[in-house]
Amino acid sequence: MTSFLFPPAPTVSLPVVGDARRFPVRRILCVGQNYAAHAREMGNDPTRQAPFFFSKPADAIVTDGGDPAYPSATANLHYEVELVAAIGEGGAIVGWAVGVDLTRRDLQAQAKEKGRPWDAAKGFDQSAPCGPLTLGALPEPEGAIVLTVNGETKQSSTLAEMIWNPAEIVGKAGELWALQPGDLIFTGTPEGVGPLVAGDVVEATVAGLETLRFTVR
Ligand code: MN
Repeated sequence: MTSFLFPPAPTVSLPVVGDARRFPVRRILCVGQNYAAHAREMGNDPTRQAPFFFSKPADAIVTDGGDPAYPSATANLHYEVELVAAIGEGGAIVGWAVGVDLTRRDLQAQAKEKGRPWDAAKGFDQSAPCGPLTLGALPEPEGAIVLTVNGETKQSSTLAEMIWNPAEIVGKAGELWALQPGDLIFTGTPEGVGPLVAGDVVEATVAGLETLRFTVR
């Protein structure tokens, strides 16, 4: 039996709707600017961009009703509601969830300005709240994607507005990485991103999937 210097980190996992088994998370890839109106609000031209990716560590996941802490080193934490595709055996999508790509927007702006990596802006601790996984085909491929803060609608669009659909995103990601069971792909956010403060109650929905709710601690 292998012995370790200290106990290995526990496996991060998501609950699965209607199944006692859990989905073990291997890594998290995220697509940038996959909705035209959001690309425009971030100051970019959505017509000329191939999908690009960044990542978060698996243990950035917050699930099972957990509440993420307001992170250190930012004065501008943003929400981004996203459809999450879960990769199973054979590299195919096996299920779906609602996620929020929490972002230190001020650090992201600095990174963009200086041509530096986004890790501190995107891949921080507890930066990936994610709801339970629904197995099978996406219930409503052109359904609504919505985020509210304290009951007020902040983001409201449909999956039909995605520039690259989930199958295309998986195809593109597969050119860059060997996708493995347990990989999650956050597929980008629609327009309307904005700030969160401690105490805010966030509710994120995608039609046909389990709602994700959390309070910023
Ligand atoms: Mn995002």
